[in-house]
Parts: sequence; structure tokens; C-alpha cells
Amino acid sequence: MSLRVFYDPGFEAPIGEHIMPIRKFRLVADALRNDSCIEIVPPAPVTESDLRRVHTSAYIEAVRTGDPRALAESQKFPWSPALFPSVCLTNGGVHAAALTALDEGVSAALASGFHHACADHGEGFCTFNGLVVALEKLRAEGRIRRAAVLDMDLHYGNGTAALAESRDWIFALSIYGSDYWENHAFTDVRTTRHPAGPNHFAAPLPNNCRGDEMRAILERNLPLLLERGRPDLLLYQAGADPLRDDPYSPLDLGHADLMARDRRVFEFAKSHGIPIAWVLAGGYTPDTSQVVAVHVNTARACREVFA
Ligand SMILES: [Zn+2]
Repeated sequence: MSLRVFYDPGFEAPIGEHIMPIRKFRLVADALRNDSCIEIVPPAPVTESDLRRVHTSAYIEAVRTGDPRALAESQKFPWSPALFPSVCLTNGGVHAAALTALDEGVSAALASGFHHACADHGEGFCTFNGLVVALEKLRAEGRIRRAAVLDMDLHYGNGTAALAESRDWIFALSIYGSDYWENHAFTDVRTTRHPAGPNHFAAPLPNNCRGDEMRAILERNLPLLLERGRPDLLLYQAGADPLRDDPYSPLDLGHADLMARDRRVFEFAKSHGIPIAWVLAGGYTPDTSQVVAVHVNTARACREVFA
């Protein structure tokens, strides 16, 4: 198979030394570049009118101009004029991958889905919610009627859930191990279930969760993605921060466990004939090569399943 993966050096906003290792986009692209079955393609950026389907004009304008600064930096990145073009490009990557998945069955963007971003502000290093921006754009283009998001970042996908509330054609499932809203750090995390809505559901992984336990919870919840009928598209956030070495992770999951997770998600999509586009998500291990390894393994699992 040939897997088209969307990436552009412009994904890397100039945020300086930051806990979010934004250089990982480039490191993952470099690691995949030598794979003859993977084609790395630059996406087109999303436009302001694409963003306006999801985000308020006041918030978009703040990120574009840097004013008011507190709103422009609500995602906790230092604002610069280069921020806005960069986040339009990463959101464009999600859209390009989603569009390609509709045509070719599977694709990826080497950018995050930015699941904490809400309509009128950013949170947790997420400026604009690329998942919902991409889905709204595809719907406007007449390419999808309904879609699902499977979020397996360590942190609860609060932004996606909030945006899903007013969009009954989206189903968002977040399987998470760290309570984002309460912002508990490290292993001081309780098992919390966020409120479910008619079209968004959250399943917590308990502290010290091992691979077999995570897979059982995933297996139990995957049918939810089909309950309202087969979605036209599945977006998959393959987070690297559930890794046991991650400073935020209270889980007991190694590289093989996360790769087994990815493989199962791809098998699920393939067996039900659902086009799937995957994106990177959080990963904060001080040794960034650990984060890159998780994302490269997602690509390997994808190729194995769709070979
Ligand atoms: Zn995260």
C-alpha cells in the first residue's frame, strides 16, 4: 500500500522552549521519510471562513492579530505573527488527511487534532480544533453527512465534546487517563467520568491501567461509534502521552500496548469499511525520541493493517 501523510515544515509554530515539543512534527516526518510506502505531502491551510464554522470571529481575530493578548495566548503558546499561519496549516493537514481517507480509505496528518480547543478560546496547547474544523469543512463540501471522533490521548477531549454538543451529526468518544478539567498532574489523578451527552461519551482508564485492561475498555466502547449508524468517516487521535514514561501519565502502558491499541482501531475501521484519518496528539516525555517512537509505531500499525 501507499500511505499519504500530510506534513509541512510550517506546522512548527515558533513557540521557543516549551513543554509541548512542537519539533516532534518534523521528527516524525523525518522518521517516516525513508519509508518507500509513505508519501509525505504538504496540505493547504484552512481559511478564516473554514475556522468561522467552528470558532467565534472574536477568537479567530485575536489569534490572527495578537489582540487581546490573553485570548490570543489562551492555548498557552507565546503569540507571534507566525502563529496564525501555522495553526491554519496544521488544521489544513487534518482536513487534507480526512479528505484523502474518504478517497483512499486511510490517511494521516503529522499534526495534532487539537481536542482542547473550544469555540471562543484555546486551551492546553490547542488553538483551533482541527478535528471539528475539518469535519465541518467536509460537510460544507458535501463529502460527509456524519462522522465520528475516537480520541485516545491521555487527556479528556473536552473541546471536541463541547463542540459536538451543538452538532448532532458528530459522535465523539474520548478514552482518557488523566482528568484534564481538574488538571491533576502526574499520578495524582483520580478516575473521573466526564458527563456524557447524547452524542459524546467519555470512558476513563483507571490509574496504573495495563495493556489488557485498556484493550478491554476500548473493545467495550468501540460499538458506540456504530450505534447511530456507520459514520462516513472516523478521525482518530493517537495520543503519545498515555505512555508510562510520560510525566503526565498515571497509566502502565508501554510502546507495544500503544501499538496494539492503534492496530485494533485500524482493524475496527477496516472491518466496518469506515474511512479513517489519524492524527498525532499529546506526548511530553523529556526524551522526545520516546514520543516520536509512539507516533512512528502508529504508522507501522496502520501499514500492517491496510497492507
Ligand atoms: Zn494529552
